[in-house]
Amino acid sequence: MRRRLAVLVAGAAIFGTGVALADGGKAVTTPSGCGYSPRHTSVRRGHSYAPRVALTFDDGPSAAAPALLKALEDKRAPATFFVLGGHVRGHEALLRRMLADGDAIGNHSFSHANLATRSPRALAQELDRTQRAIARATGFTPCLMRPPYGIDAPAVLAALGRRHLTSVLWSVNSADYTRPGAAAIKRNVLAGAGPGTIVLAHDEDGARGRALLRALPSIIDTLRQRGYELVTVTDLLGLAQTPAAPVRPTAGPSGQDGSRR
Ligand SMILES: [Zn+2]
Repeated sequence: MRRRLAVLVAGAAIFGTGVALADGGKAVTTPSGCGYSPRHTSVRRGHSYAPRVALTFDDGPSAAAPALLKALEDKRAPATFFVLGGHVRGHEALLRRMLADGDAIGNHSFSHANLATRSPRALAQELDRTQRAIARATGFTPCLMRPPYGIDAPAVLAALGRRHLTSVLWSVNSADYTRPGAAAIKRNVLAGAGPGTIVLAHDEDGARGRALLRALPSIIDTLRQRGYELVTVTDLLGLAQTPAAPVRPTAGPSGQDGSRR
């Protein structure tokens, strides 16, 4: 609950605080619509008219997600998490905490499959199971989708379009998954960052996640020193129709804090 005013709007009220979720927690009130435009089904970056950058983290929630979230919270920096439907269970409270922080959550498929090679039925399941898992956990249905491996083949885009999901790729790759070390991750991001940049990074545990965590505070500080505002992809693309009205998330009955994988 760090940066937005609580604005009550009809769309947000649908997911009011009284909604009971699958794990016993309470829904986080969020905008229900993203203003999908059929003309912008696949994006790699936002508009360049303003010095804004969106950090994105794929493949989580991982065991390292609480630390990643804490690092972003410490800097009051919003981010966008493209989560795997198969990783939602046990991390429900963590997803609600992301939304309460003002972060955005997107769909990254259920099993990290190359969707271009899936049958239409399997592709639909990858998308829909993840949408349902996130909705059950948070009361929020994502409007953004990042196809695994960045493969947004025509069949994938068509399936996304039918669901009013915008495909979000990236314009700057941190290459954190190549284990380059914290200094190189920082260099990769800062060398490529410009107005409208979408940065690819990952929510991963282990050595790769630790290197990213070491680099992240300095990346955020340096971007801000250069005049950039950090925003979610939703905000960067101007897709949010209404401000979020975040509500402090309530912990699930078993203290789900994202520590289990
Ligand atoms: Zn991925």
